[in-house]
Amino acid sequence: MKILSRVPTAILLLFIILPFVPQQLLAQSNPEQNVTAVLWFQRSAEYRALCYQAFNLAELRIKEYLPRFDREKHPVVIFDIDETLLDNSPQEALNIAEGKPYSQEAWTAWTEKASAEAVPGAVEFVRFLAQNEIEPIYLSNRMNTEGTMTLLNLQKCNFPYADRNHLYLKSNTSSKEFRRNIVEKSHEVVMLVGDNLSDFDLIFEDRSVNFGYKTVDSLRSDIGKKFILLPNPMYGDWTKPLTGDRKSWLKK
Ligand SMILES: [Mg+2]
Repeated sequence: MKILSRVPTAILLLFIILPFVPQQLLAQSNPEQNVTAVLWFQRSAEYRALCYQAFNLAELRIKEYLPRFDREKHPVVIFDIDETLLDNSPQEALNIAEGKPYSQEAWTAWTEKASAEAVPGAVEFVRFLAQNEIEPIYLSNRMNTEGTMTLLNLQKCNFPYADRNHLYLKSNTSSKEFRRNIVEKSHEVVMLVGDNLSDFDLIFEDRSVNFGYKTVDSLRSDIGKKFILLPNPMYGDWTKPLTGDRKSWLKK
């Protein structure tokens, strides 16, 4: 009871009433829910350390791969961009300050600035790849219309190969599977790096059964090996049970 008494009543209430709150209201109240997430992302040394941990592990795995390096296979690493290479938390913080949920309009205004800073350790890792003749593929769900400013932002941060040939943006579908398949036809995909499991494989997109835990369990040997995951508590497919299928919120 002592521990419970220290938990803010509002948070306790949130968990008690969550299954009964209309989905639309949940979506509208999202900015306030993000306060702790954005604070952790921007101010915790733990977040920074986790990023370094991810990229240190990624570098170790690449060093293990290098003896098998074959230029003829055109080896690449596929990167997601947002919250994997670029830090968009200022925009998340602005949404909170203005009490507004995510909107494409506000997002585009942010990406037009091309002012996102790099995620800790990201630039060094991508440059390490380039030095070892492994090219990055920047595969993001930013819209095609955001391409020019996205490349400018990546260039400002000193990411190598930030050009149209290495950029695969969203045209009509959020699923990245189609674009990954295109890359795989002409390259050896050595590793995938992202903050959302669906950055890695189609199989992770479905969270309708047990939050997708079983899928993760079945592929656990690939995590930290072929799949390198960055932390993102602010948004992602993990929120689907909140705003989508309410039944899946109740853990089976
Ligand atoms: Mg991302």
